[in-house]
Formats: sequence, structure tokens, C-alpha cells
Amino acid sequence: MTSSVMMSEMTWPEYAAALESNPVVFLPTGALEQHGPHLPMSVDYLLPSAIAREVATEVGGVVAAPVTYGYKSMTRSAGGPFFPGSTGLDGATLSAVVRDVIRELVRHGARRICVLDGNYENLWFLNEGIDLAMREIADKGVRVMCLQHWEFLTEETLAAVFPDGYPGIELEHAAVLETSLMMNFHPELVRFDKVPDNEAADAPCYDVWPPRREWVAPEGSLISARGASPEKGAIIAAQYRRDITAAVKREFYELG
Ligand code: ZN
Repeated sequence: MTSSVMMSEMTWPEYAAALESNPVVFLPTGALEQHGPHLPMSVDYLLPSAIAREVATEVGGVVAAPVTYGYKSMTRSAGGPFFPGSTGLDGATLSAVVRDVIRELVRHGARRICVLDGNYENLWFLNEGIDLAMREIADKGVRVMCLQHWEFLTEETLAAVFPDGYPGIELEHAAVLETSLMMNFHPELVRFDKVPDNEAADAPCYDVWPPRREWVAPEGSLISARGASPEKGAIIAAQYRRDITAAVKREFYELG
């Protein structure tokens, strides 16, 4: 029996034993939504789960089962509601799920919790859920960190991954970043021959309701992922492993 850092692969006695050392417990959050014709709809929770597994291995942590549904796909950042499969939660629902899961992790004994997100639109609803949990727990011994993995990308990594310039995270949906990371962590799930060759999405700097279908390429990618590769994925993953580990150690062990 190999030891795992994944809560979902543990028995309850293994999980209870793992929590005795007051480890950092990672909560991956994401979404179930379209990622073009070449990536599975699970990208936004598979990537933070894989990154959390690597960082947890570095810091002796535990990775809780992911929150697999997230906030709604917005048209300018993820294609909107035009694609079968994109399954969004209301913001209040996502906040409530995060609040409840954190409260449960704390009941299990967790005191160091790192929410590691993979869906751009989740951020403020995660913050709200964490804030509600902290208010409910009212325990000064609990510390929570919340991060979105792309915020850790350095200039050096961006230069290596985007030699023609970084288009910005708003367009990086099902594009070079996510496709390269999937080629690194889950190559069997990438249909690289199906990568569309679309131009960058050209939406204005505001939203409208109902959303406009013409703001999104028919394939669902906001910009082409043709420049993706497993080598780029490995560069990003290694930098994440180094820098997210350092941030987690700093917040939970060095600053106290
Ligand atoms: Zn995504």
C-alpha cells in the first residue's frame, strides 16, 4: 500500500493519523465547464488537484477532495452559457459549499487550510465562503490561505511559455497555459489533434445580459492552444511546485 496525500484515497484511520501532525490541508476548487474541443470539462479542478498534490508532497500536507463545481462560466473569460456541459453554481451556493467544507475540515482537526483554485470566476465567492467560515468558527487558531495558480507565473516562465507575448489570464481559457499543464499532468485526456486554430476573442471591456454568442469562437477556446506542449507544462508545473510551496511554508510555518 503506497501512502497518498489525497484524502479521497485514504481510509478514515489514515486520514485521522495524517491530521495529527497539524498539516496544511489543501482544498482544490474549480469548475465543470467547456474547455474547447480538445480538453475535458474537468480541467479547472484537475489542475488545482494535481498542483495541490505536488505541493502537499513537499510540505507533508493533505489534499481534500476537490469542489468540482464552480461559479458560472462568463462569456468573456470562459465562453459563457453557450456550451453543453458548462454547469455553473450561483455565487451564494459556491460560497456556502466552501464555508461548509472548511467548517468540516476544521471539525476534523485541520487548522492550516489552503484553498487552491483553478477557475478564474470563483475568486470572490471563495473569499466570501472563507470569510463566512472564519466568522462561524471564531477560532483564532485557524489560518486559511486562498490562491489562484496562475497568479504565481513569473516573468521568466511567461517568457518561456509565451515567446510571442502573454495574452493575459482572461484569454487563457482552454489555451496554452491550461493545455500545457494538462499535457504535463494528464496527457491521456488531451486531444491535441482537435486544438482549434481560432483568433483571439474580441469582446469589449464590459458584460451584457443576455450574453452575446458572437463574443466567443464557436469552438469555445478564447485563443488558440496551438503553442501548447508538455515541455511548457513541465516548466510551469516545476515553477508552481517551487513557488507555491515557498508561499505555503511562509504563511503557515515561517510567519506563524
Ligand atoms: Zn479552465
